[in-house]
This record gives sequence, C-alpha cells and structure tokens, in this order.
Amino acid sequence: MTPQLTDKYMVTIAERLTSAYARIAEAAQNAQRNSNDITLLAVSKTKPVSDIMAAYEQGQRQFGESYVQEAVDKIAQLATFSDIVWHFIGPIQSNKSALVANHFDWVQSVDRLKIAKRLNAQRPQEMPALNILIQVNISAEDAKSGCAAEEIDQLAQFISQCSQLKLRGLMAIPAKSDDANTQIQYFEQLQTCFDKLQTQYPHIDTLSMGMSNDVEAAITAGSTMVRIGTDIFGTRT
Ligand SMILES: *Cc1c(COP(=O)(O)O)cnc(C)c1O
Repeated sequence: MTPQLTDKYMVTIAERLTSAYARIAEAAQNAQRNSNDITLLAVSKTKPVSDIMAAYEQGQRQFGESYVQEAVDKIAQLATFSDIVWHFIGPIQSNKSALVANHFDWVQSVDRLKIAKRLNAQRPQEMPALNILIQVNISAEDAKSGCAAEEIDQLAQFISQCSQLKLRGLMAIPAKSDDANTQIQYFEQLQTCFDKLQTQYPHIDTLSMGMSNDVEAAITAGSTMVRIGTDIFGTRT
C-alpha cells in the first residue's frame, strides 16, 4: 500500500498535538497545577482545512484564527463539524466586526470600546452570547494591539452590560523574549490584572497566555489557555 500524502500529514499533526498536550501536562505538573485547568487552543491560521481536520480527528475541538476572511471561508467548509469552537485571536478592523460577530464563538482580541459596541450590536439575537477576552498590551510595545492595563476596568464594565457579549477574561501577547524570567514577569503582570478583575467579576475564568515559544512560563504564571500554532501545524510561510 502506498501511503497517501494526507496520511503522512495526519500522523505528523497527530504526533505534534500529542506532544503539545504532553508539554502542557509537564509544565502543569512542575507548577503544581492540574493540567485539566489548561485548555489548548490550536492556532490554525494560514493552514489548510485538511490540517484542522487532522487535529479534529485526534479530538481537538478549540481552534484559533487571526485573519477574518480566511477564517470565515474555513468555518464554512467545516460547517458539518458543528462542535468546533472557533476563537478569533487577530486584530479586528471595524469593517470586519460583523463577520466576526456572526461566525465565531469567542473573540480574544477586544481592546477598545468601539469594537465591543459593534460586536454586541452585530451578534445575532438567536445566537448565544459571544465570549469575550479583553486583550491587554502587557509589555507596552508600540506596535502591538491590546489596551493599557489602566483601560481594562472601563472595557470590562461596558462588556459586562452587553446582552450579546459574555466577559470571560483576559488575553495578551507579550513582547517576544527567549529569557524565561522575562517571560514569567510579563505573564505575572497579566495574572495580577486578572486577579483584580475577578474580584469584580467572579464568573470570569479564562486567562489566555502562552504560545509555542513560552508555554512553560505562561503556565507557571497561571495561564488557563495556551494558544499553540507552530508546534502543532509547523512553521507558517
Ligand atoms: C499566531 C498566534 C499564536 C500562535 O503562535 P505560535 O508561535 O505559532 O504558537 C498565538 N496567539 C496569537 C494571538 C497569534 O496570532
């Protein structure tokens, strides 16, 4: 029997997914945390639908996408896989917010009132409330998206009053660093913001931080959701 290219593909993604879960389990154990408290979001941006299906076959259900049009096309192609939970994690332009409001289950990149307002108005009434994470610019880099830590309260207050939105927590993409201590410092800043927010909104449950490069640091600092792309699907071109 000649193996199909897709079979080879699937083995690769299956193996990588298994090691991603093993990595989370080990990091959780080292941090004396329960790995069941950490969700793996498979970041499939730029990757084909066949890759998403390969991960799905291994039981993966949470997927993250960053580019609206690409994501909407893939979501349509995968419409029969109705238990996939789609997270939008990229920057949101106003003119794309309706597509995001109509097609996703979560939006992790809400960083300004204008976008929160639009998402609330555009989320169809018959759909469940859109789960929202406020994206925080933790390392105060000019080029990155995310609100300042001082702006979290105002945004959270608005979102929590929106009938079509459900505040779930915070997300950040800190400045890239290969130094574990620096990574942990950034993530601890976000954890502090999260703890503070949770005193006002006890139902929030999601602290989305950690990517292929810094999963361990993020889990040490209390992440409940790591967003892994490269380590599962390979490098992006
Ligand atoms: C692309 C992306 C990821 C995944 O990054 P990797 O380094 O490939 O794991 C995670 N979060 C966000 C917001 C992204 O845009």
